[in-house]
Amino acid sequence: VMTSQQLTNWLKQRTYLTPDRIALISDKREYTFKELWTMTIEMASKIHSHVKESQSEFIGLMIKNTVESVTVIHAVQQLGLTAVLLNHRLSPSELAFQIEDMNLSAVILDDEFYEKLQNQPIQKVTLSGLHKATPSTFEIKGHFQLDQVCSVMYTSGTTGAPKGVLQTYGNHWWSAIGSSLNLGTSENDTWLCSVPLFHISGYSILMRSVIYGMSVRLFEHFDVERINRELKSGSITIMSAVSNMLQRMLKDLGDESYHGNFRCMLLGGGPAPLPLLEICRDKEIPVFQTYGMTETSSQIVTLSPEYSLSKLGSAGKPLFPSELKIKKETRPAAAYEEGEILVKGPNVTIGYYKREGANQKSFEDGWLSTGDIGYVDDEGFLFVLDRRSDLIISGGENVYPAEIESMLASHKEIEDVGVAGISSDEWGQVPCAFIVKGTMSLLNGKDVLSFCKKNLASYKQPKKIVFVDEIPRNASNKILRRVLRERWEQGVYRDEH
Ligand code: ATP
Ligand code: MG
Repeated sequence: VMTSQQLTNWLKQRTYLTPDRIALISDKREYTFKELWTMTIEMASKIHSHVKESQSEFIGLMIKNTVESVTVIHAVQQLGLTAVLLNHRLSPSELAFQIEDMNLSAVILDDEFYEKLQNQPIQKVTLSGLHKATPSTFEIKGHFQLDQVCSVMYTSGTTGAPKGVLQTYGNHWWSAIGSSLNLGTSENDTWLCSVPLFHISGYSILMRSVIYGMSVRLFEHFDVERINRELKSGSITIMSAVSNMLQRMLKDLGDESYHGNFRCMLLGGGPAPLPLLEICRDKEIPVFQTYGMTETSSQIVTLSPEYSLSKLGSAGKPLFPSELKIKKETRPAAAYEEGEILVKGPNVTIGYYKREGANQKSFEDGWLSTGDIGYVDDEGFLFVLDRRSDLIISGGENVYPAEIESMLASHKEIEDVGVAGISSDEWGQVPCAFIVKGTMSLLNGKDVLSFCKKNLASYKQPKKIVFVDEIPRNASNKILRRVLRERWEQGVYRDEH
């Protein structure tokens, strides 16, 4: 039996080691680790006095990207509670599902979100309420237990109902260490965070900050112009982004370029369109593609700096503490052979909360079946293709919606696009492209088809083009292809071609 391993209390240790380093930068000012520690302990003692004694170690958080939210996240760790991070973009009924699933009795929330939880039979602790609370002292822990669950985050619900992912202190620790062993750490680093703190992409930046002693420049919203200004000025060295953000940044950037201090654009969360990567290569923007998920507590596979050009399009190799393999039916796949991506490592979740079925299906010998399809080349570099559930098998050929989507998205008159498989008597399934065109665009189905003919092998070319007003996306802004399929089958859309 392994005894529970422990580490120092991260924020406390960081404050002891480098109290005067900058921990956090907001629009208004900078905060040192010492200041962050003081604010965190004050917040924790107010939460301690205000939140009713509950039987559960879980506490819900519904927060924005603010300095106060950062102190709430650290305060909950200091109190030894497990944070359940709720996505504030969810609908009241989606939130109700997660609150009930976790059996939450209290949620700390930004006042702005009160209405969304109005009908929930739980204690709602607003930030303004906490301001007024009288602090009560609690015992500050000397150590963090690596096997203790630190946070619970729900998967985005792209393929089905969201599942609560248990993330331990050990998961976050190894995630931060794995990242630093690949990207390196420097005391001059400042990581720009405009991705949500309730999502693993944002939360993990805060953990790296205390573990590395690194500054975080926090943005409440994705403000393209201001973010570009910072990247041009040299104040930022690393930034996390998804492809849609990067696309908008490039558009705003125009012919200008970023400061030489900017050393890493960590691009993940979804497919990275090749045309986008090529533009970045030509503009010498240091993009590092990465593959990860809620279950891997952020990145698990990332392209190392020295391969960013020669392996363009690859998500890279596993981080040092982690492993990767591709499974074809029941056997390991050969190089270049497509199959399901399996991952293993100390950053991988111990399991889904109360999901016996999913846990049995997804875990075997410490390997997590990701539900994604990909292949590795003869040097072990991973290429992610798409989700298994969205794979289109057309006349016996595998067609990946992501590839068609990224090609179509490079068309100037196409504003948004989703591709899904629809049934066909002749081919079994065929790809269908659902397209939102620009407001002034006269684009028609024929134009789109001839664009596809130029750029895609014939079996990949969409057999139907449907113009729609919007592409259904979930609260994490991911395309819901299953909804496109359903709407098509129910006759919601008109056939354009
Ligand atoms: P659910 O599991 O509920 O369907 P989700 O998988 O969208 O939701 P997340 O954990 O937020 O929830 O997203 C992780 C997924 O995002 C990965 O499994 C993968 O499908 C996709 N993804 C992440 N990085 C990449 C990448 N570099 N290339 C392609 N897809 C990626
Ligand atoms: Mg998933």
